[in-house]
Amino acid sequence: MSSRYDAVKYKTPTGNQLQCKGWIQEAALRMLLNNLDPAVAEKPDELIVYGGRGKAARNFDALDKIIAALKVLENNETLLIQSGKPVGILTTHEDAPRVLLSNSQLVPHWANWQHFDELEKKGLMMYGQMTAGSWIYIGSQGIVQGTYETFAAVANKHFNGSLKGTLSVTAGLGGMGGAQPLAITMNQGVALCAEVESWRIDKRLETRYLDIRYNNIDAAIDHALQAKQQGEALSIGVECNAVHLLQRLLERDIIPDVLTDQTSAHDPLIGYIPHTLDNAAANALRSENPDQYLQLAYDSMTMHVQLMLQLQAKGAVTFDYGNNLRARAKEHGLQNAFDFPGFVPAYIRPLFCEGKGPFRWAALSGDPADIAVTDEVIAALFPENESLQRWLKLAKERIAFQGLPARICWLGQGEREKAGQAFNELVRTGKVKAPIVIGRDHLDTGSVASPNRETEAMADGSDAVADWPLLNALVNTAGGASWVSLHHGGGVGMGYSIHAGMVIVADGTDAAAQRLSRVLRNDPGTGVIRHADAGYATAKQTALAANLAIDERLK
Ligand code: NAD
Repeated sequence: MSSRYDAVKYKTPTGNQLQCKGWIQEAALRMLLNNLDPAVAEKPDELIVYGGRGKAARNFDALDKIIAALKVLENNETLLIQSGKPVGILTTHEDAPRVLLSNSQLVPHWANWQHFDELEKKGLMMYGQMTAGSWIYIGSQGIVQGTYETFAAVANKHFNGSLKGTLSVTAGLGGMGGAQPLAITMNQGVALCAEVESWRIDKRLETRYLDIRYNNIDAAIDHALQAKQQGEALSIGVECNAVHLLQRLLERDIIPDVLTDQTSAHDPLIGYIPHTLDNAAANALRSENPDQYLQLAYDSMTMHVQLMLQLQAKGAVTFDYGNNLRARAKEHGLQNAFDFPGFVPAYIRPLFCEGKGPFRWAALSGDPADIAVTDEVIAALFPENESLQRWLKLAKERIAFQGLPARICWLGQGEREKAGQAFNELVRTGKVKAPIVIGRDHLDTGSVASPNRETEAMADGSDAVADWPLLNALVNTAGGASWVSLHHGGGVGMGYSIHAGMVIVADGTDAAAQRLSRVLRNDPGTGVIRHADAGYATAKQTALAANLAIDERLK
């Protein structure tokens, strides 16, 4: 058994030779290993893919067994994964998922970090985040499109359609947060991003998600102001704590136009570095005295939100970017922590009502030329979708692939099914060199209940109703997705979310065409139904147009 990541042993297979007994098992194997590829994962030695401690497998022993199990798995069998460990192979049938995964599920009364940490220490559990534990993370690109859409929506709502001449301030340049600087410059703005860990800044520079770095806060602010004045699109990473950057902005009376944050505040012990500690001291205290660490982290997160509220009061367009920072401050007694909104009700929900969400795919061949072929197909399929066309052009120019070549586009009800069928046809006719694997984030229209994020401020007050992601996972299983996962705690931490993932392989066969048609209709369909049920007019219209409205069927 390995105790750390072995680049040779765990190299992602590419090409069109199978190591498994079918392309679906092969896809699961390649996507699992791709998640852990050092070009993709944040900390492969700890099996951490992204998002604080979001892992792809519980430990190296479990990883080796998953790999071995996928290689022997028959086409009428299903592998069960319990929080990152393979626990059984059961007989199902060819159209059933080849893998079913459940990650970090706890009975609600025990659903908190403290209990999870005890179980994790005993080796009984793993935190799956969203796409880490469901093997469909594709590096920072996965989030670039969503982040680009969010900042485009901010630009449309507050700045006449462009961030040109504006300053956006944020923090956290990790696996997801690292997409922020690129998304802001793609919207023509200036990004100033605080990050405590030097290597994270360097990683974003290497992948061209970030333009330049500073170690000095004032120098970074000065350069940002100069770029804003000149209307230049520029992203700046500054090695410092978010709290220190915001304090300095206030001291200098510099008010950002846009203000948010993507530190890993969802996980106070592992993901958030208090401003009163440097990195080395934080690492030491975390293991020596976790209770004291938590106290300092909560003090710091509370001050962080207070500073954001002060800047908001002075005019910064301020929003929570899905890391549960506001809830941490509120847990610590800050009553008005929720005075700035979450990004979903503010900017994303209208898209969810059309069944739109983070549709993504990867070329199992490993050949970037295959993604170029799929890009052309998508551009030709949806010529009227201007923002999609703009995104495809920018993505080709600015996105460096990490691991298996992949692409993400936000597609809606009806569009995803069309794209899936077109990709299956590309495989069938040999226009791409190997099958295409299709998936999505759990941050999607129908797959998540997360009252401080995706389901914040639902029109009917159903924010905490978690039947929807369960139905989503069940229907994707029934429809024949290739693997289906149910997670707890992703994005916002233990106790705050329940969500489901699905992946489906286009292998060019007729059977895949049928599965794709069912799954890619039903998966966003559950989101349209969920939002229609909550009373959103656009969702009701989408449901009607897509023949998903139950009242119509009962007439
Ligand atoms: P990550 O753990 O890979 O990165 C977090 C980064 O924050 C790290 O680089 C860390 O060094 C830095 N950091 C921690 N405390 C800091 C502080 N006080 N000041 C400055 N930097 C600090 O996590 P990630 O994958 O980038 O995700 C970040 C957060 O965003 C998570 O909470 C995640 O759940 C959330 N998230 C939101 C969305 C969304 O669409 N809104 C999507 C994915 C993730």
